[in-house]
Amino acid sequence: MKSLEQLVRPNIWKLAPYSSARDEYAGKEASVFLDANENPYNSPFNRYPDPLQRELKKQLSKIKDVPEDMIFLGNGSDEAIDLCYRVFCEPKQDNVVAIEPTYGMYKVCADINDVEYRPVLLDEHYQMNADKLLGAVDGHTKLIWICSPNNPTGNALQREEIVKVIKGFDGIVVIDEAYSDFSAQKTFRSEVTSLPNVIVLNTFSKAWGLASIRLGMAFASADIIRLFNKVKYPYNVNLLTQQQAMEALKDPFETDKWIKMLLGERTRLMAAFELLPICEKVYPTDANFFLAKMTDAQGIYDYLVGKGVIVRNRTRVQLCNNCLRITIGMKGENNELLSALRQY
Ligand SMILES: *Cc1c(COP(=O)(O)O)cnc(C)c1O
Repeated sequence: MKSLEQLVRPNIWKLAPYSSARDEYAGKEASVFLDANENPYNSPFNRYPDPLQRELKKQLSKIKDVPEDMIFLGNGSDEAIDLCYRVFCEPKQDNVVAIEPTYGMYKVCADINDVEYRPVLLDEHYQMNADKLLGAVDGHTKLIWICSPNNPTGNALQREEIVKVIKGFDGIVVIDEAYSDFSAQKTFRSEVTSLPNVIVLNTFSKAWGLASIRLGMAFASADIIRLFNKVKYPYNVNLLTQQQAMEALKDPFETDKWIKMLLGERTRLMAAFELLPICEKVYPTDANFFLAKMTDAQGIYDYLVGKGVIVRNRTRVQLCNNCLRITIGMKGENNELLSALRQY
């Protein structure tokens, strides 16, 4: 790995961050707060939230088994994705390499930040070849994007290939594990303390059932987390979000229950798809969705919309011709989808 100073944009490396009132006095013991130009009325919403979300990170650290100073929290994973570009990639000069197809935000954020995006096609089983990925790297490649289990394909990538990329690249490897709660595969989050060039992304939007509160996590070395904290908006995670996440963390067994039910429904729904005459192939999945190759994805998609059932049409995505992406819902919702498809 190159040194962090070689990898980080020079302006970010030198950046003196904004210092908020809550940074300069972070204690709670005082009884009179006249430092932040807040309104003294309308408690608790009158006060700025903790810019570093310390209480929440303390709880999260136990559940994720990652030290608090190796956790970044943002306004969805999308904030962490954007920060990777803003911290590491010089516009018009640096580039990033990514598997293809994958989550669309990696490319959108590259385009917004004016950073060249180099997609490398997966094979026909949606697996990644490490040498092919590393072959797309040059001296200006700062990041490699890997998503496992991958979206929209659903499958987990082979661990040995990911390890090969981590070992063979001198920049930063970002591994998006948004769906790892649905997978039996070993995570890279659990190894992040011994992988200085890896950033792992997690989210509250999927298994935790909290997409509306917008809370994403990044796990990385304390040095990388410090850079993220320096560049983020000072109060990027609001109080309501922090409180709601704390509530959820008090009862992780509820989340486990949801995961079990969704995995059961996933098995049932995939088996039913295998039997549909209009379904040509059901792809293996490690996520709370699966990809199905249909006889006519566009026609079936339009028909389902007419029935008030919305799935994701991925037919225009590379390697996903005629594929629909099906999110696992509640039993009744899945049955509505199936009975509509049986009448197509
Ligand atoms: C859904 C999803 C996310 C979650 O993004 P948030 O901004 O945290 O809601 C992240 N990565 C992938 C691959 C996803 O599919």
